[in-house]
Amino acid sequence: MSIESPKIEKEKLSREPIIERAGVVFDDFDVSFFNDAEELAGDGFEENLTETKKMVDDILGSEWKIDDKLRVYLFTDENQYKEYLKRNFPKIPDDMATFDRKTESVFRCGKIPENEEFRDYCRAQMFSGVGHEMAHLHPFFGGVGNKASKGKWEQEMICVFVEDKVRTKTGSDLMQKMSMENAKKELEKFRNKEGNFSLEAADTNWKNFYSLERLFYPWLEKRYGMEKLRQLWTVLFKDKKGISESLKEIYGEDIDDLEKQFEEGVEKAQNYEELVK
Ligand SMILES: [Zn+2]
Repeated sequence: MSIESPKIEKEKLSREPIIERAGVVFDDFDVSFFNDAEELAGDGFEENLTETKKMVDDILGSEWKIDDKLRVYLFTDENQYKEYLKRNFPKIPDDMATFDRKTESVFRCGKIPENEEFRDYCRAQMFSGVGHEMAHLHPFFGGVGNKASKGKWEQEMICVFVEDKVRTKTGSDLMQKMSMENAKKELEKFRNKEGNFSLEAADTNWKNFYSLERLFYPWLEKRYGMEKLRQLWTVLFKDKKGISESLKEIYGEDIDDLEKQFEEGVEKAQNYEELVK
C-alpha cells in the first residue's frame, strides 16, 4: 500500500561501520583498528607510526605540523575493508590504502599469516601503506585536499619511494627483492618489442613497467643523493616541468643517457642492494 520508507537506505549509508573497532589516540594520530589489525600492528605501534611520519618529513624535506589528528583506519579483513570504503568513500577505487580530504587513511592487509616472514612483511606493509598516504597529504604537495597530479612522476612515484623506504625500515625488504626480480623480467619483455627501454614511453602504459619504475628514484638517490632527488621532485611538482626537462636541469644529463645507465645498472646488479643501496 504505502511506499517503503527511504530510511533504511539512509541507515545503510551511515558513516559508522557496523563492526567493532579498537582505538588509540596519540600525538598526531587517531587510529582505529578493525578485525585483528591491532594484533598485526604489534608492540611499539605508536613509536613506529611516529617514526613513519618522521621519515616522510625527512624525505620530503620539511616538518609537517598537523593541525588536526590524522585519522588512520586499519583493517585485516578485505571484505570489511571494501564494505567500509563503499560506505564511506564511494568514489574511491578499492586499492590497498586510501585517504580522503579529511586526513583519513584506510588500510587493509589481508588475514594475518602464520609464517613469521610474511607476518613481518604484512606489518611492514601496514606502516608503508600509511606512509604512502601520508606523503600524498604532506605539505610538500600542498597539504590535505591537494589535487593529485595527472602524471605519475610528480606525485605517485614519490609516494611509492617513501612507501618503500618505510617498508624496509619497518623490517621487510621482501617487496624490494621481488621488484628487482620483476624489473629484470620487465626489461626483457620491453626489449623484445622495442629494442630499448624508455621512461617516456613507459609513461603511457606505466602499469607494465611498475617494478622498473619503482627502482628509478632509489637508483637516482644512490648515485646523486637525496638532496638532488628532492630538487628534481620540486622542479617536477612545483614548476610542472616534464621528466626529460627536469632530469636535464637537475642532473645535467639527457634522459636517454640516464635511461641507458639505469637499464645497464638493473641488468648488471645481482640483487636489490647492489642497485640501490
Ligand atoms: Zn598513491
